[in-house]
Amino acid sequence: MTEPSSGSDLAGVRTTAVRDGESYIINGSKIFITNGIVGDLIVLVTKTDPARKAKGVSLFLVDTSLPGYRKSRNLKKLGNKAQDTAELFFDNVRVPASSMLGEEHGGWKVLMSELVQERTLVAVRAASTCEAALEATIRYVKDRKAFGQAVFDFQNTRFQLASCATKTQALRIFTDRCIDLHTKGELDMHTAAMAKLYSTEVQDEVLDACLQLHGGNGYMWEYPIARMWADARVHRIYAGTNEIMREIIGRAL
Ligand SMILES: Cc1cc2nc3c(=O)[nH]c(=O)nc-3n(C[C@H](O)[C@H](O)[C@H](O)COP(=O)(O)OP(=O)(O)OC[C@H]3O[C@@H](n4cnc5c(N)ncnc54)[C@H](O)[C@@H]3O)c2cc1C
Repeated sequence: MTEPSSGSDLAGVRTTAVRDGESYIINGSKIFITNGIVGDLIVLVTKTDPARKAKGVSLFLVDTSLPGYRKSRNLKKLGNKAQDTAELFFDNVRVPASSMLGEEHGGWKVLMSELVQERTLVAVRAASTCEAALEATIRYVKDRKAFGQAVFDFQNTRFQLASCATKTQALRIFTDRCIDLHTKGELDMHTAAMAKLYSTEVQDEVLDACLQLHGGNGYMWEYPIARMWADARVHRIYAGTNEIMREIIGRAL
């Protein structure tokens, strides 16, 4: 999906696919593509009618061994370092017409339905990260001593953890409900947007409080909480930013 000049404005993609006999010729570029380095078959968002916005979008399954396809180096990220992220370039890549996914100009509809699942996945990840962070932090503060007592025994620590535990449980219940609706095919766009928005904002509150309770160790890569904090930050950005989630929810009110 994402291109250097259009991320949030997904309908503004400029990569084109032009029909030529039994093929399409693809030109353009993509950025921030997860698994772009290792992927050998990608789902590509193109414009088959550049004059139209969402109504000119078509999807293709592209074999990355085709001539004219090129990928960048692995981009250096703040977190999620085990996962690759790349720029992709398409220079007159000829693909068979049969590699179109769905109907011509019908890509937007497919994207909108699949993004519901992607946003639910982010919520699941955020909710499970909160649970893991809470567990790690309770263990840490019960063991760590300051002023001759366990850090857990300060009222502030228990209050902070009580807030985190409450938010985490509420998040789990909402996320489970979204999973339930999704498995029945009933999760709508704005509820998935709420799940993505709410889960990732709660996740940042919980992770920040948990990291703080670790003191300096919380900033050290060898402690899982540091990695969780760094890995989770992107959740408010990808799968549609949280500002775009607010737009989607606002439109449905
Ligand atoms: C690690 C990582 C992995 C990714 N993986 C993928 C991937 O596999 N495939 C893929 O297609 N993309 C991927 N992305 C891209 C991601 O989805 C985009 O970065 C995201 O959608 C935001 O687009 P942008 O970066 O162009 O920001 P911009 O659209 O330039 O936004 C900049 C800021 O402006 C705000 N903004 C924009 N429009 C509005 C508006 N209408 N109202 C209010 N505020 C607005 C945004 O919320 C943001 O805060 C990935 C990104 C990262 C960081």
